Amino acid sequence: MDLEAVRTAVGAVQDPELHRSLSDLGMVREIEAVSDDTVRVQVALTVPGCPLKDQLTADVTAAATSVAGVEVVTVDFTSMTDAERTGVVQKVRGEDNIREVTIGKPGSKTRVIGVSSGKGGVGKSTVTVNLGVALARQGKRVGIIDADVWGFSVPKMLGIDRQPVVLDEMLLPPEAYGVTVMSMDYFVGDDQPVIWRGPMLHKAIEQFLVDVHWDEPDYLLIDMPPGTGDVAISLSQFLPRAETIVVTTPQPTAERVAARAGLMAEKVNQKVIGVVENMSWFTGDDGKRYPIFGEGGGQGLADKLEVDLLAQIPLLPNLREGADAGQPVVVVDPEGEAAAAFERLAAELDARGPRLRTHPELVITN
Ligand code: ADP
Repeated sequence: MDLEAVRTAVGAVQDPELHRSLSDLGMVREIEAVSDDTVRVQVALTVPGCPLKDQLTADVTAAATSVAGVEVVTVDFTSMTDAERTGVVQKVRGEDNIREVTIGKPGSKTRVIGVSSGKGGVGKSTVTVNLGVALARQGKRVGIIDADVWGFSVPKMLGIDRQPVVLDEMLLPPEAYGVTVMSMDYFVGDDQPVIWRGPMLHKAIEQFLVDVHWDEPDYLLIDMPPGTGDVAISLSQFLPRAETIVVTTPQPTAERVAARAGLMAEKVNQKVIGVVENMSWFTGDDGKRYPIFGEGGGQGLADKLEVDLLAQIPLLPNLREGADAGQPVVVVDPEGEAAAAFERLAAELDARGPRLRTHPELVITN
């Protein structure tokens, strides 16, 4: 049995949270042949109670058995020392470990998109979550900040029920369906009231942007609190280049309330890029669309804000059921009407993103 080959194979496994190879992170420790066809692999975890141990075990086992002659793999774990862990944090964050908001700044490839609404209950979180998963399914790397401090719901909608791993002062956001999520929900008990003052909110948002290891996603979506206020102001200070989409329902009276969220975004210099109308219609068994909440609200708002109506999302019982069960509809029913609407929304957003300029007229010949 070629133990060096085993070390190479295991070293190439990616840490599921840090997205770096185990060899890069210095996590592969002892490797020994226990018998003719059995190898023992020891992996050093960054923190002892790593929630992704099972996945690591499976990935390491698969990598080791890919080496000729290895039939059985036993994986055991040890923990890194404080110094080793600090080394990992430095490696991941960059040697100088900049402690300021870099995401969304010039030079960063991350597009930051706030999802706003005039009032609660219109489906803003539902849109954030399903848009995030739809973007991830189109190959994008996506993070979500759940900044809706009056009702954190993003982790539950994605079935995330654990706290982030903390490495020194770096927080690793839990991931579900290809989307990493940071939420205050991780830190407050279920029925605990959360009382926020402006300065506390400001600090919390800053920490979410600075201390969380987002690892330069393509998209950072922000589930904004409904209405206008402190969070929008704080975010605009940290993320001056953020864009905004506004979610509304079809009834024309909702339009005025939603328009305020759009105007607020403009006031703090965040570009409104479009409107999403949610609960647009219910498609009956007869295939007909029933506009339960009226019609025209989304287009009316888009006209008022002088932007495009990016998508209309149908009202669907399995959308709510999925959200309650921690499974977004784009995962539960990927072929369905709502999933298709979210896929289109993701594509529309992507199409409106910054493009690399190419000059087809320039042809280099030799
Ligand atoms: P908000 O973030 O605006 O407060 P939520 O996304 O939490 O709203 O949605 C409110 C409720 O409506 C949730 O129970 C959600 O599952 C449900 N819901 C949202 N959009 C739809 C839809 N298109 N069809 C069915 N239920 C929906």
